[in-house]
Amino acid sequence: MTEDFRPAEALAARLRARIASEGPLPVSVYMMEALFDPMAGFYATKDPLGAHNDFITAPEISQMFGELIGLWAVECWSQMGSPGKVQLIELGPGTGRMMSDVVRVLRAAPGLINAAEATLVEVSPALKMVQGRTLAGAPVPIRWAPRLEAVRPGPTLLLANEFLDCLPIRQAVKHEGVWRERCVAMHPDESERFAFVLGAALSAPDLARIPAPLRDLPDGSLVELRPADAAVIGALAERLSAYPGYALFIDYGATEPDHGDTLQAIRRHEKVDPLDAPGTADLTAWVAFGALAHAALDAGLQVFGPAGQGPFLKGLGLDVRAALLAKAQDTAGRARLARQTARLSAPEEMGALFKVIAFASPGLAPPPGLDRFVPHETAAQE
Ligand code: SAH
Repeated sequence: MTEDFRPAEALAARLRARIASEGPLPVSVYMMEALFDPMAGFYATKDPLGAHNDFITAPEISQMFGELIGLWAVECWSQMGSPGKVQLIELGPGTGRMMSDVVRVLRAAPGLINAAEATLVEVSPALKMVQGRTLAGAPVPIRWAPRLEAVRPGPTLLLANEFLDCLPIRQAVKHEGVWRERCVAMHPDESERFAFVLGAALSAPDLARIPAPLRDLPDGSLVELRPADAAVIGALAERLSAYPGYALFIDYGATEPDHGDTLQAIRRHEKVDPLDAPGTADLTAWVAFGALAHAALDAGLQVFGPAGQGPFLKGLGLDVRAALLAKAQDTAGRARLARQTARLSAPEEMGALFKVIAFASPGLAPPPGLDRFVPHETAAQE
């Protein structure tokens, strides 16, 4: 325990020193440091994923998740005309569990298993080690890249589960009619603690990034901006305009433009204060699926979804897969599969809050399980 907290104390001290010299730090900077500081960042230093750690994600709940995504990828590859070389890219692969379940399924498509080269886009040295161990016997070559832009060129199948939610967000609060950047500073009464404060007014280009229906909200309202999503979509659009490909993102969030503070911190399965002991809790925020879809359309991509994770997985055959696996199980094993199915797909669990959205190169057919995104008035930017 004390071991865990020593680097965190050093990170808090570095943040305090930075605030003293630079002034309050935008929420995005705080989030970046707390997650990715090389010495004490939450992702940079440890393996936070899995049942016994800080939180559990869909691929860690059940092998069925990655297997169904693998089937999705097989179908997309054939819709691309079964190219003889394909980059199977995963953004933020965590423990590597999903990729290992995906490539196991690709064995069923011999043409694809010979064509595929997997590239894991990961920033955390600690998680890269874990991924290397998980994928040691994988039936396809495995590489790593620090960014999507650095992945080898070529036809593409890209997967990302719970990647966008940990990209740093900005928050803006309306105060006396003016949208201002929400920042982190030291607490006025307790010099060791961090506190939220209001920083500078947003610039005109930043204001334009607030979806039109939210701009006139009353004083006290909070909106979130996701500048890092735009960078991911830009890199993806560049790649998918040069080579045929599909990309699948699964994450939690809202479809319609929404407001309110969604920044949350999870430490050992408990919600905690995001400003308490930076680096010791996972920080995430809701993905804005509507804004993401519009950004992708503007970048020239085809957009499919968003759909709830539950209907999407069921459409890909979750129940059939569970029934097949259940045949080889005893009563306890069957109950476990039923629990996994419910956790992944029931609306009151991950089935509705988690959503799936896909992007494709112009000209490709819709991917399995998702309908074409139809933009509508309220979501449109001015
Ligand atoms: N997809 C996994 C892990 C989700 S956690 C799962 O579902 O279990 C988020 C992952 O994204 C971690 O592996 C984290 O280190 C990685 N990550 C976060 N920001 C990143 C970035 N900018 N570039 C590459 N990887 C990143």
